Amino acid sequence: MPETVTGKCLCGKVSFQAQIEARHAGVCHCTMCQKWAGGITILTECQNLKVDESPELGLYRASEWGERGFCRNCGASLFWRMQDGSHANVSVTALDGIKDFTLNKEIFIDEKPEWHSFEQNTKQMTGAEVIALFTEGQAN
Ligand SMILES: [Zn+2]
Ligand SMILES: [Zn+2]
Repeated sequence: MPETVTGKCLCGKVSFQAQIEARHAGVCHCTMCQKWAGGITILTECQNLKVDESPELGLYRASEWGERGFCRNCGASLFWRMQDGSHANVSVTALDGIKDFTLNKEIFIDEKPEWHSFEQNTKQMTGAEVIALFTEGQAN
């Protein structure tokens, strides 16, 4: 049974809802997230992401396939999704009142700075492995 979750930005002007299959959190260490979120992003895979209409919703296309959603007012990093809608991830830390997540994945591990790391035992994937997964079956 998918669980419906809600979330919002720091100032509350951009909110969203989505469905998740499991309370699993994944860290992205990519250099784009480092710039975008001021460090890392902690994301969970979701379906049926619905972002409320807000003039403060910003969308930034940092790559040819991805799109990043944020609040223009407070700057919060809220979600990442494929431009074709095939995959979406929301920021676990933007969710309302949900604490019991398990950190079980780290992606773009090859771009992680050497001066920090998580103690959890996670599935680790390089950027090349992640990109191959997301672009599977698409002409390059
Ligand atoms: Zn905001
Ligand atoms: Zn990233």
